[in-house]
Amino acid sequence: MKKILLIATGGTIVSRLGKNGLAPQIKADELLNYVPQCREFCEVQTLQLMNLDSTNMCPRDWEVIAGAIRSHYEEYDGFVICHGTDTMAFTAAVLSYMIQNSPKPVVLTGSQKPIDLEITDARTNLADSLLYAADEDSSGVSIVFDGKVIAGTRAKKMRTKSYNAFSSINYPCLAVIRDGNILRYNQTKLQGKPIFYDKLDSRVGVFKLIPGVPSDILDYYFRLFDAVVIESFGTGGIPDAPYYRFAEIIEKWRRLGKILVMCTQVTNEGSDMSVYEVGKSVKNKFGLLETYDMTLEAAVTKLMWILSFTHDRDEVRRLFYTPVNYDILYPVR
Ligand code: ASP
Repeated sequence: MKKILLIATGGTIVSRLGKNGLAPQIKADELLNYVPQCREFCEVQTLQLMNLDSTNMCPRDWEVIAGAIRSHYEEYDGFVICHGTDTMAFTAAVLSYMIQNSPKPVVLTGSQKPIDLEITDARTNLADSLLYAADEDSSGVSIVFDGKVIAGTRAKKMRTKSYNAFSSINYPCLAVIRDGNILRYNQTKLQGKPIFYDKLDSRVGVFKLIPGVPSDILDYYFRLFDAVVIESFGTGGIPDAPYYRFAEIIEKWRRLGKILVMCTQVTNEGSDMSVYEVGKSVKNKFGLLETYDMTLEAAVTKLMWILSFTHDRDEVRRLFYTPVNYDILYPVR
């Protein structure tokens, strides 16, 4: 029988209603009482790593989660992490970079409703996750939620309340789970040994453009961060009307070794700076990176992973465009 480590980090799935609203309370070992049927196909041990509303999750916590999986890796056949839905897509992406090529599955799950309610998605999500983590053909980092298996780098929270909270962006789901059966679409079982990374560089910022935004905000971002992801409009461009100073600011900080990455605010289909003059000219001039079909969550956490061991511009570029856990498809130009 497969041995699974269930790691609890908090979230709605383990929350109870207090006088100030829902807060994480149910402990990891109590969770198993809600999915007794799982004893038929796996043996589960639990680890209470933290108990957070995932709004409070930060890069240091990601290092702790990755470290826990690394230190228990040999003892278990698979891992299920219970996590709040709000930042689950970031955690799934960052774990995809910190635990690469894992033949053993690392599954994140959570729910929109607490597990101790009569009507809840939590029991199904937890049971599906254990089923998926205990299956011989599973591997890599993924989210299992509302019957979908989504690559860890492709998930985005799209709904705040409905059970189908997550979508797989610009990439198909890896599998679906229906009535206790895993129907796989396109996943290849990873072989060999996992590669672990322990550290992150959290000095990565996201600057969202709105029409008329003061250019000086970008200057401030570059003072704080080693890399800035600029969330622009449509296929991606930098405003260049006379009252903007973006070009001057980008040039100044580029010479000082800072990294600028273009991303789009549009959820589907990704960036392509080659389409419009506002994108193409600036990309050529300043050697910007762009996210293409990657999610914002993947781009940000990939930079945190890369910058933890190199700031060399060419190496950052090479690694950023090297696919990890299905994160980027677009033919890079
Ligand atoms: N605020 C909760 C969290 O992210 C929401 C959830 O789990 O659904 O921890």
